[in-house]
Amino acid sequence: TEETLVLVKPDGVARGLTGEILRRIEAKGYSLVDIKLVEPSRDLLARHYAEHEGKPFYEPLLEFMLSGPVVAIRVAGNRVIEGFRALAGTTDPTTAAPGTIRGDLGRDWGLAVQQNLVHGSDSPESAARELEIWF
Ligand code: ATP
Repeated sequence: TEETLVLVKPDGVARGLTGEILRRIEAKGYSLVDIKLVEPSRDLLARHYAEHEGKPFYEPLLEFMLSGPVVAIRVAGNRVIEGFRALAGTTDPTTAAPGTIRGDLGRDWGLAVQQNLVHGSDSPESAARELEIWF
């Protein structure tokens, strides 16, 4: 079994979609190992998003992630890293496939950053690094 970090981003928490997102994770058969509501510091977010430093969406991304509480979840399951990314759908909510979290629930607000409801680790190395940062 494997673990991944899932974040319900501020848009998901503000829109009251945390329960719906947790429902989809549990319905898929994954286990919630740990969960907390966090108001992340700028320093924590800079560590989490270190790979994006210098990109055009980096500052808007940090501002967005600082705009309200985030739900951090440690999720376990067989191939959960790949599996949660399939549940989440692709980055851009406009073209994310229907049936996915972003495809069904995500909106394109026309802002400088994609407010796409969730984050999921993209590799075992990222999952280990990110779980250490958030938990
Ligand atoms: P995926 O890896 O499936 O694309 P992700 O959430 O892991 O999704 P990252 O590439 O790690 O995406 O980017 C982190 C976040 O930065 C995205 O979820 C999104 O909020 C924002 N973002 C990424 N690329 C862009 C972009 N080109 N324009 C605006 N925002 C972006």
